[in-house]
Amino acid sequence: MTDPATLWHATAAPMEPFTALNGVTETEVLVIGGGFAGLSTALHAAQAGTPTVLVEAHRIAFGASGRNAGFVVPNFAKVDPDAARALLGSRAEALIGMAATSADLVFDLIRRHAIACDADQAGWIQPAHSAASLAKAHDRVRQWSALGRPVEFLSAESFTRMTGAPGWLGGWIDRSGGVLNPVGYARGLARAAAQAGAVLHEETPVLKLQRAGQNWRATTPGGQILARRVILATNAYVGGLWPGLARTFFPLRVFQVATEPLPANLRERLLPGGQCVSDTRRNLFTFRFDAQNRLISGGMHIVSAGAERRVPHAIHQRMARMLDLPDLPPLAYAWSGLASVMPDFLPRVVELGPNLIAGFACNGRGIALTTAMGRELARWAAGDPLSALAIPTREAKEIPFHALSRLAPNALLPLSILRDHRESQRRGI
Ligand SMILES: Cc1cc2nc3c(=O)[nH]c(=O)nc-3n(C[C@H](O)[C@H](O)[C@H](O)COP(=O)(O)OP(=O)(O)OC[C@H]3O[C@@H](n4cnc5c(N)ncnc54)[C@H](O)[C@@H]3O)c2cc1C
Repeated sequence: MTDPATLWHATAAPMEPFTALNGVTETEVLVIGGGFAGLSTALHAAQAGTPTVLVEAHRIAFGASGRNAGFVVPNFAKVDPDAARALLGSRAEALIGMAATSADLVFDLIRRHAIACDADQAGWIQPAHSAASLAKAHDRVRQWSALGRPVEFLSAESFTRMTGAPGWLGGWIDRSGGVLNPVGYARGLARAAAQAGAVLHEETPVLKLQRAGQNWRATTPGGQILARRVILATNAYVGGLWPGLARTFFPLRVFQVATEPLPANLRERLLPGGQCVSDTRRNLFTFRFDAQNRLISGGMHIVSAGAERRVPHAIHQRMARMLDLPDLPPLAYAWSGLASVMPDFLPRVVELGPNLIAGFACNGRGIALTTAMGRELARWAAGDPLSALAIPTREAKEIPFHALSRLAPNALLPLSILRDHRESQRRGI
């Protein structure tokens, strides 16, 4: 099985494959899924001395963890601390604290395990496209600075001075955020987990999970794993492994592109500080550079026949328009991936059976949050009760009319674009 054709897979330092499982093995904890969630769980569990096996159906970082934009963002996609408190009551504080420090955790792990992934904790910026979102930026700064986070409001002038990007009304920055090569990061976590004593197997899909006495038996093409506790870290790639689990979230296809490297005169104009930027539009506009000065952006698009061909072109045109870059170099890479989006946009643990859980912290913004979730799940692996974790446990509730509602993001996109356009002070969304 080959890796997906992303910029990150093409440019990350290669990693020796972990062998596929062949035979029967036993462990205390089985982690299914080799993305950030599974890898961070395996690393922290092994460091705590819990015997751990991790299996990945394809190669490490095959799923969203290898296909994202590499923005490390220490907050929830749609929910601010006050809203989380209103939703979760007393259980919110631990979760908010986990999110607030999640980017620091990522960059600490990178330093501690000397992970080569072009990491730069240069900050994450959210510029406002409308007056209402500018007011929200003030409120976000108030809420996150009350938690001691390194956040700051940016006026339109300071945003443009900092980024070289025209046309936004200002915004805010969290200086603990930043960028990385996600495949390099995932491979580094895999190596660190193996060094800490976890056993990793690639090309090892779990085909069936069954109760076997006090244990779970996971059947793979080449063998079986008997485990006392099992953690599904399969995100939107879960398929049919556990009945109904795929109907508890919305699977969202997101596209990413990277240009050929920009010439020095253009590169110096934009983002000299190396931050990453995602704005407040419903049809999000994002940009960052990689270490070779390729400009990277992405977006949701209406998925219809020929989308894989048309969408990258549309994103390229949008970048050129939004950033006033008529001479933008052509695309070098285009790819897409699946994110799981929860109905409340918050991380959750789902209890599926005795000693069997699934963890979701993706919501389209999960590099930092899934890493932090993994540290929590490792505590459960070591015997802590679910109630002690920072992430709330939720019922595995299927979303009504899931087959239809999963199409909603696409169906609503034209309306979102229209509303963005009406609110925006700037032409050419
Ligand atoms: C295009 C795109 C752009 C994004 N951009 C950003 C960004 O810039 N910043 C950010 O913070 N977040 C971003 N995200 C979200 C982020 O990538 C995810 O939140 C994160 O990678 C989820 O990690 P995970 O480990 O939960 O899941 P995944 O990385 O999806 O891993 C799940 C793994 O489980 C494996 N698996 C599934 N079933 C089985 C089985 N039966 N047996 C064995 N293995 C199995 C899959 O092969 C897969 O590798 C983006 C997502 C997408 C799709």
